Amino acid sequence: MKKHTKPYKCDVGTCSEAFELQSGLNRHRQEMHDPNAQRYYCPWRDFGCRSKLAREGTKREANLDRHVQTAHGGQQP
Ligand SMILES: [Zn+2]
Ligand SMILES: [Zn+2]
Repeated sequence: MKKHTKPYKCDVGTCSEAFELQSGLNRHRQEMHDPNAQRYYCPWRDFGCRSKLAREGTKREANLDRHVQTAHGGQQP
């Protein structure tokens, strides 16, 4: 029986994702932790928004749009 172990663990910050393959970990790091990747931040981050999108941002503009819609009524500061 092949064991389902995930020996490749991400250790960036508080991230605890684990992967069976090195390639999986590499891809995860690029997608989630690449400091050069474009990130979108909540425009209300300097105005008291404490959401994850204000603190960490997102790589997907659609996520930001949805957050601004739901959390800020679609308003820009
Ligand atoms: Zn990670
Ligand atoms: Zn916000």
